[in-house]
Order: sequence, then structure tokens, then C-alpha cells
Amino acid sequence: MGAAVPDAVIARLRAALGNAGWSQDPERLAPKLVEWRDRWSGRTPFLALPRSTTEVAAVVGICREAGVAITPQGGNTGLVGGQIPDGEILLSTERLRRVRDIDVADDVLVTEAGVTLAEVHEAALTAARRFPLSLASEGSATIGGLISTNAGGTAVLRYGTMRNLVLGIEAVLPSGEVWNGLKRLRKDNTGYDLKQLLIGAEGTLGVVTAASLKLFPILTSRAVAFAACDSVAAAVRLLELAKSETGGAVEAFELIGRLGVDLAVAHLPGLRQPLESRPPWSVLIEVANATSGSAEADLERLLAVALEEGVITDASIAQNEAQARALWALREGQSAAQKPEGPAWKHDVAVPISAIAQFIETATTTLEARFAGVRVDAFGHVGDGNIHIDVLPSPGAAPQSHISRRDEGARIVHDLVVSLGGSISAEHGLGTMKTAEAASYKSAVELKAQRSIRAALDPQRIMNPRVLF
Ligand SMILES: Cc1cc2nc3c(=O)[nH]c(=O)nc-3n(C[C@H](O)[C@H](O)[C@H](O)COP(=O)(O)OP(=O)(O)OC[C@H]3O[C@@H](n4cnc5c(N)ncnc54)[C@H](O)[C@@H]3O)c2cc1C
Repeated sequence: MGAAVPDAVIARLRAALGNAGWSQDPERLAPKLVEWRDRWSGRTPFLALPRSTTEVAAVVGICREAGVAITPQGGNTGLVGGQIPDGEILLSTERLRRVRDIDVADDVLVTEAGVTLAEVHEAALTAARRFPLSLASEGSATIGGLISTNAGGTAVLRYGTMRNLVLGIEAVLPSGEVWNGLKRLRKDNTGYDLKQLLIGAEGTLGVVTAASLKLFPILTSRAVAFAACDSVAAAVRLLELAKSETGGAVEAFELIGRLGVDLAVAHLPGLRQPLESRPPWSVLIEVANATSGSAEADLERLLAVALEEGVITDASIAQNEAQARALWALREGQSAAQKPEGPAWKHDVAVPISAIAQFIETATTTLEARFAGVRVDAFGHVGDGNIHIDVLPSPGAAPQSHISRRDEGARIVHDLVVSLGGSISAEHGLGTMKTAEAASYKSAVELKAQRSIRAALDPQRIMNPRVLF
């Protein structure tokens, strides 16, 4: 819990931000103090709403002088609680809303931190370009938040995470100084890469105020299918085939178990079973490339080869955009589809692709044996080894009794992940939820190095103090 913020500091912040630039109104603050699943709720004495980098710098500078802590917040879609303050000043980027530049020669889009991912997609399209990061929260998640969590999503297989998609960053460092690192270079070997330190820093090394993002050509030829597999091992083999048969044109490769499809069909309006056979495992495959009609041809050839080899047992290709969207809704609706079933234990982990089948099988059998009646909903981005193992309560179980065993379940999953050479946080970050646990898996050498970097940039630890090491 943060220390009380002196009235004099609040008065200085108000003066620096002007009337529209702050709030202490409980109703205005309320939606920013709860996480969308109601898993975390927080408190703050003051909401700062800067509308420029200069105003962000003023807020950070005042807080630094007074030793007052700050929690930055973008769209509040983070899944590990890092954006929810506990007594700190809450600094929202909601008024940093300008797309500053789009340059086709440089293939770059320069945007302020509070612009949402969906708005970046739209802006890129106006220049006949595309920003490929894609995830279910894109209507609310902001560029600042996506950078700070090094977000991944469904297209990592082809384009990488935010780390691979950011060319430059402008940020206010914990000192209150503005670092203008808004370069648009593809090559820049001039010492430590400060922007990469800020990517994935979860607000601990400063406030990201703007970024230059890589743009890509629009892919006009796109095809989406749902394919049935008897096992996770078969799905992994299908990925190998997909990469080689399409020459690397696989845009997404998402695994969903039978339980996940059934929950989506039961709880999300307008969805139906994509495959009559209701297979134990399904894969959503999207293939895309630039030549008209070629993605469909690539996908059809891939599915024919896979059927022939016995890697898949059935498949359905979307015949139009509406059908493609319906297939994607099954995958992207997984979190929403779980909600009516009670509180789920969520595990966002990564393992080497070659270990995915062993991981899902061992995790599922171990969890089911340890916790009678629980249901394991495993799904995720097979193409980059990122699996979500979500554990739902047994039907009719009291929510609180399920929640009370969450840490025990997490330990089982995370010990297994680490034993397979994986990571206990693939794409959501550590936040307040996983910081202590991650520390228990890291070596003393790594922790010392990470703490030294933080202490050098933020000796008072004012930036998001409860998050990271
Ligand atoms: C339905 C759903 C699906 C999701 N799917 C995915 C997915 O597939 N892949 C994935 O990676 N994530 C996913 N997420 C998680 C979430 O959308 C991402 O973590 C996103 O990057 C957070 O962006 P935000 O603007 O909401 O940040 P917030 O939630 O507001 O903040 C997240 C973290 O970043 C910090 N932060 C925010 N803005 C700044 C800034 N400008 N400067 C410094 N620090 C800042 C905060 O302090 C906090 O630690 C999903 C979330 C939901 C709700």
C-alpha cells in the first residue's frame, strides 16, 4: 500500500495539469480502479490526465521531487494487475491520443501512447499499410500498454511481439526527463538499446508517451480454416506442415480444445460448432499473402496433404469474411466464454514448440488428479509455444473454494513449465500477480542485474513500485 500523498503535492499536480487534466471524482475514477474481470481493485488519491509529453514530464517531475509513487495506465486491459494503483498517483494516457505521422517510405506510423491498437490498424489502412499485432482486447488496449507489456497476440508466429514491431520510443524517464528515442531506423547499433528496456518494463522504467511502429504491406489474399486433430502432437505436426507447405505464409495457428469450443458455442451468441465431429483438438489456421487467390490455394493444398498424412481428421474452410470472423470469434472469445463457468485459474505460459504436447498432457492429467472435478481449458498460440492452461471449477463448486486453491495449481503448472525450459509469463507480463513468483524462478545473477538497471534509472523506485523486481 502506498504512503499518503501530501496535499501540497496534489496542489502542484493540479496546477501543472489544468482543470481538465485531473480528477478526484470517485465516479470518474471507479472504472480505472477495477480490472475487467473484477480480480483486482485499487485506490488512488489522484488521477492525472496529461494531454502532452510535457505534462507527463511535469507529473513525473513533481512526484520524483516528493518521492511519490506513480502507476501508469493505458486501456486497463492488462491481465496481471500492474495497471491498478494501490495508493499511488494514477497516470492515465487517455488524452495522449494523436497519431503524429504515417510515412510510407519509412513504413512507419508514429503515434502517441493512448491511441488504441484498433485505431492504429485503421490509421495504417489509410496509407494502404498494416500494423500486424492483433489481439482480442485491441478496441481498448493502448500502444503504451502494449509496449509496456511486450504484447504478443495471434500473429507472433510471423511478425514477432511488440519487441519486433517498435522502431522508436519517446518516454518520460523516472527522473522526469523526456527521452526522445522516436527513431525510425531498422538498423541502429549505437550501444545499449534503451527502447528495448522500456518494452516489457510494465511502467517501471518510465512512462511511454509515443512510439514509432513498423508498418507492413496489406495482404490481399487470406484464407481461414478450422482443422480437427486427434492429439496435440498432431496439431504440432500440422504446424510444421503448414510452414513448409505455405512457404512461411502462416499468419496464425491457434489451438483450441473441445471444452473451449463447447464453452464458446454455449455462452457466446451466434456461434456454432465449426466441425460436426466435435474433435478433441481443433486448430484455427490463417494463411495470408499478397497474390490474389493464392492463400486459398495454399490452405487447400496444406489441408489435403495433412488429411492424406493422417495429421488431421476433418477441416472446414471459411467461405467468406463472415464465416472467417465466426471462426476467429471461437478463439478470441475464450476468456468471455469461461466467465459464466466461474472463476478460472489462468496460466499464460510458453514452452518450446517441441514440448507443447508433453506439457499440455502432463499439466492436464496432474491437475485433474490433484483437484477432483476441475476442467482444464488449454488453448493458445501453438506457432510460438504460448499456451493458456485455464482451470475451471468443477460444475457447482463454490467460487471461493476454487479460488483458494489457485496458487497450488499455479505452482504445479509453473514447475512443469520451468522443467521444460519454458517461461511462466509468455505475453501478459508479471504485474502484481506474478512478480514474487517469477523472482522465485530467476537466478540470483539475473535478479541482481535487473535490480541494478532499475535502481540506476529510478533510485527512489517511484515508477510502479509493486511491479517487477
Ligand atoms: C480479452 C483480452 C484478450 C487479451 N489477449 C492478449 C493477447 O492475446 N496477447 C497479449 O499479449 N495480451 C493480451 N491481453 C492483455 C492486454 O490486452 C495487454 O496486456 C495490453 O498490452 C495492455 O494494454 P493496456 O493499454 O490496456 O495497458 P494497461 O492494462 O492499462 O497496463 C498494462 C501495464 O502497462 C503499464 N502501462 C500502460 N501504459 C503505459 C505507458 N504509456 N507507459 C508505461 N507503462 C504503461 C501499466 O502500468 C501496466 O503495468 C488481453 C486482454 C484481454 C482483456
